[in-house]
Amino acid sequence: MARTADAVIIGAGTTGLSIAFHMAGTGMRDVLVLERRFVGAGGTGRSVGIIRQLYPTRETTAMVVRSLAVYRDFDAAVGGQSGYVRCGALIGVDSRMRATLETTMKLQRSLGVRAELLDPSDVARVEPRIDASRLGAVLYEPESGYADPSGVRTAASPAWRRPAASASRRPSS
Ligand SMILES: Cc1cc2nc3c(=O)[nH]c(=O)nc-3n(C[C@H](O)[C@H](O)[C@H](O)COP(=O)(O)OP(=O)(O)OC[C@H]3O[C@@H](n4cnc5c(N)ncnc54)[C@H](O)[C@@H]3O)c2cc1C
Repeated sequence: MARTADAVIIGAGTTGLSIAFHMAGTGMRDVLVLERRFVGAGGTGRSVGIIRQLYPTRETTAMVVRSLAVYRDFDAAVGGQSGYVRCGALIGVDSRMRATLETTMKLQRSLGVRAELLDPSDVARVEPRIDASRLGAVLYEPESGYADPSGVRTAASPAWRRPAASASRRPSS
């Protein structure tokens, strides 16, 4: 049995699978993913699939912007279905958090995220079933939504098991 590989990735969650997929996309063929339990045994298998874009750092926001583009066009980018549904996301805070939320929103916007700050009375315009009267501010991201974590993991797995079969779908960067 071969005991070497060009790259060894520990953990078959969404992070490990995505890294393996992108390494295969660079032309690397001998990429080994080691998993101590089963694919999606960690947080990936428990996720409820919400894709929001409110993250506090430049790096994490940039990652989610790129990820969202992949989830939207998943069949072309990876192959299979991500189950992405663009329903928008609302994130409410109390009045003490409003200034922090504004700062984070400015960062998000500078990186291409569509986001706006709503007064609680405006929330009904987006979702009339929510009583936002006790909130201080609400961030609205119209392009966020949710996807199917099982579908994403299932689609990503054959991509690294049989890289030759997914060669036409390899990402260009
Ligand atoms: C209940 C819940 C709900 C969530 N909902 C959301 C959500 O709606 N939206 C969202 O964006 N995020 C959500 N998350 C977070 C998201 O699921 C995680 O951030 C993401 O799945 C992490 O992926 P990962 O690949 O980095 O880690 P994991 O999925 O945890 O994968 C790590 C893998 O490594 C394996 N491993 C660890 N150590 C070793 C070792 N020594 N040898 C071999 N294998 C090893 C583990 O068995 C595991 O399979 C949620 C998390 C939970 C728990």
